[in-house]
Amino acid sequence: MATQKLFVLDDEPDFTEFVADVAEGMAFDVSFTSNPLDFARRYSSDIDIIVLDLFMPILDGIEILRFLVDNSSSASLIFMSGKDKGVLHSAQELAFEQGMAVLGVLQKPFRANELEALLSTFVPKAPAQSSQYAEPPTLDELREAIDNEDLFLAYQPQINMSDRSVVGVEALIRWHHPCKGNIAPNHFIPLAEKNGLISDISQYVNQAAIRQQGEWKAQGIDLRMSINVSPQILNDLDMPEKLARYAKEMGVDTSDIVIEVTETALMSDIVHYMDILTRLRMKGFNLSIDDFGTGYSSLQQLVRVPFTELKIDLAFIQKLLTDQECKTITEISISLAHKLGMHVVAEGIEEEAIWDTLRELGCDEGQGYWMGEPMPAEKINTWLSSWSGKSFAAQKINTSVK
Ligand code: C2E
Ligand code: MG
Ligand code: MG
Repeated sequence: MATQKLFVLDDEPDFTEFVADVAEGMAFDVSFTSNPLDFARRYSSDIDIIVLDLFMPILDGIEILRFLVDNSSSASLIFMSGKDKGVLHSAQELAFEQGMAVLGVLQKPFRANELEALLSTFVPKAPAQSSQYAEPPTLDELREAIDNEDLFLAYQPQINMSDRSVVGVEALIRWHHPCKGNIAPNHFIPLAEKNGLISDISQYVNQAAIRQQGEWKAQGIDLRMSINVSPQILNDLDMPEKLARYAKEMGVDTSDIVIEVTETALMSDIVHYMDILTRLRMKGFNLSIDDFGTGYSSLQQLVRVPFTELKIDLAFIQKLLTDQECKTITEISISLAHKLGMHVVAEGIEEEAIWDTLRELGCDEGQGYWMGEPMPAEKINTWLSSWSGKSFAAQKINTSVK
């Protein structure tokens, strides 16, 4: 494997050398400088990792970050600083927002083993693939997929955290491309939104999900159905009526349907969406604010829409045990939601320890790979019986421990 290139930039020469020594000890091909202008001159696009001090005279770390973004750098970053930890986290967030990879942050002084631990998490990027699998889907392919009904829904269970009962499922769209394999919704929903195809997709999702819910209900399986809605669909003023009519046809109560809207989408124009969201609520639908914590909504905005549910973004849940700030945000979100009369769903629970912590924090419901991955409708029955076995066993253990 080729040697990985690492560059250290810190205005303190002693610290620069310390980092360089540690990295050399790990067999990185190291360059370093204490002069930001020298860094800018020597920068090349094949650098794999940049260890960057934030506070420097001449050019600070954020200006260097801007330089890297402007040069479409694919390097992974480690930020260092001797000052306030909050600034380190802001720098990290800023880098993420701009599409940069960040290995982590280090507050000075730090020990060699802390730096080694971060450097050892570096995964070299795979060489760019020339095969068609690496190519993003095209608009024509998406049109074809809609016409050929190559899109389908997967359902991910949502579990009550106090008694482990299954309360509902979230419908998540899937596209299986004959050559490109599975294409994630994050790759084709934006394409559909940009090119006027989202209403076709949305109509398919809404109808397929509610029809499925009706079929389950007829079999005696009562599951609440959560449906993701693109903000563009909230421009269709007849949407509440159409959806309520369809639910009635399928024998489903609107109070068993949750409409999820992402916080980011909503905050772009909350007044505009309030009309339709309020009318959805008046028809009995539940309203969920999805990916909460990523959209910078203000309290005032939040209380204006009659949300019934708040979903904490998986980015916070996944770092719940390792990052105190994520834990604080989760705690505050739960308390805020409860005070505003909403229930809280945590998404992205991948391990039992996270489940246990969320339960202690008072979270109402959870969703995540630890309990169940999104699955096709025909697998739900098998999953339900295996989950009820697992949760029965867990409850027996809990009771005997008490
Ligand atoms: P979302 O609504 O926040 O959905 C949760 C995402 O987290 C899903 O990704 C789900 O598969 C994933 N997830 C659930 N549990 C775990 C876990 O334990 N670990 C990890 N790493 N991931 C987990 P997915 O299916 O790729 O969907 C991504 C996003 O695409 C959704 O985020 C939603 O915003 C959007 N989307 C999905 N289906 C639809 C749809 O029918 N319509 C619209 N407009 N958007 C959709
Ligand atoms: Mg969702
Ligand atoms: Mg989400």
